[in-house]
Amino acid sequence: MNSQNTSTTSMTRVRVVQCDCNPGKTYASTQSFHQHLTTHRHEAFALKERCRDLQRRLQAMEMRWKTSTHTIHVLRRKCDALENALTHLEVPDGDEEEEGAFEDAMTTVQEER
Ligand SMILES: [Zn+2]
Repeated sequence: MNSQNTSTTSMTRVRVVQCDCNPGKTYASTQSFHQHLTTHRHEAFALKERCRDLQRRLQAMEMRWKTSTHTIHVLRRKCDALENALTHLEVPDGDEEEEGAFEDAMTTVQEER
């Protein structure tokens, strides 16, 4: 928002102090610049900038919220599909090889959650 520039010429070194709330205006000294920071003009400008920043942050949060809501929806559907698959899973009748496959399937389902 505020800027303090120093420019050097061949003869003198000039420090230029400016503020974005009043483009083109230069302040003769750091003291006058700091005094400017207490003016209503600058405070109103600072409040507007803060408001814009908060609006940008709010929009970013809304985007994250929408993305998260979508992710939750997708995960809920996958969870429902897995629960449905488990409900209709046929339990093997004691064959050791099939039992191992059943346990592998259960482990896979739990890892995916
Ligand atoms: Zn200002």
